[in-house]
Amino acid sequence: MSKEGSVSRGTSPVVVPEVPQSSADTPIARAAEAAIGVRGIGDREPWPRPSRCRIMTIANQKGGVGKTTTAVNLAASLAQHGARVLVVDLDPQGNASTALDVEHHVGVPSVYNVLVDDRPLAEIVRPAGEMPGLYCAPATIDLAGAEIELVPVVARELRLARALRAYDTSHLDYVFVDCPPSLGLLTLNALVAAEEVLLPIQCEYYALEGVQQLLNTAELVRVNFNPGLHISTVLLTMYDGRTRLASDVADDVRAHFGSSVLHTIIPRSVRVSEAPSRGQSVITYDPGSSGAVAYVEAAREVAMQSAGAR
Ligand code: ADP
Ligand code: MG
Repeated sequence: MSKEGSVSRGTSPVVVPEVPQSSADTPIARAAEAAIGVRGIGDREPWPRPSRCRIMTIANQKGGVGKTTTAVNLAASLAQHGARVLVVDLDPQGNASTALDVEHHVGVPSVYNVLVDDRPLAEIVRPAGEMPGLYCAPATIDLAGAEIELVPVVARELRLARALRAYDTSHLDYVFVDCPPSLGLLTLNALVAAEEVLLPIQCEYYALEGVQQLLNTAELVRVNFNPGLHISTVLLTMYDGRTRLASDVADDVRAHFGSSVLHTIIPRSVRVSEAPSRGQSVITYDPGSSGAVAYVEAAREVAMQSAGAR
């Protein structure tokens, strides 16, 4: 904890991992840091693994709050610490597939075929990049049509849940479902399929107002389809420590969601936004950057939830 700064008032501290000043942001410095595994992120100690696969839907109907970034970087961190993780890309934009370096041009067997054509998930899952234990079910742009094509289909909300049930998840520790920025049929499928919701909230004004709609939808899904569904994890993203506002939002979110809010807050970091264009998570792209350190810490907290009762 010594490397972390506590920046809020209130009951539980807001913890943003800090990167030491010595982190000269030059290619040589980064390469050197990556090579020697500085700042604790070189440690690859295995973390506790859940007794059975945790299916977590990463949802927030607002776009640009860090859903995909969170899915990819938590998945990569967990895989790096011994877990086997599948990311299901449920956004037609396919950003998670891009970041995980999995092909997703039209014609590639994808989540679209699983939802619309009943194709088994096992036929579309691909290993993600170079990272052992990390897999991706890619999304192609056709998935945009699935929202409409599924409308007349019987039990249209249950398509992903059924596909995951038919898939052997016994070899996996985590499934992260990366949702599109809407509360349409795709997000409904994700909420029906999961036991847990991971809610990324961007540290900005009105952040909580947008979230209420998602909470209402999750409650409807819980009552009608999925009694075990709960918001297990809230992650504050894109924190800008220079503003007072960000820390106020963080306090509000903690007051609302209590202990499900992870202590770690993800700071704004240019490295985080650069990594996807290299087909990488920030965890491998720049392991010493503040964003990578924060995501590894957040993933450690998720892994520790697995060790205790959820
Ligand atoms: P969503 O999936 O909710 O639409 P993304 O994860 O795609 O959001 O993030 C939106 C944009 O913000 C992307 O360009 C992403 O690279 C960038 N981004 C996400 N998290 C951070 C961060 N911590 N620091 C800087 N940029 C970020
Ligand atoms: Mg996204």
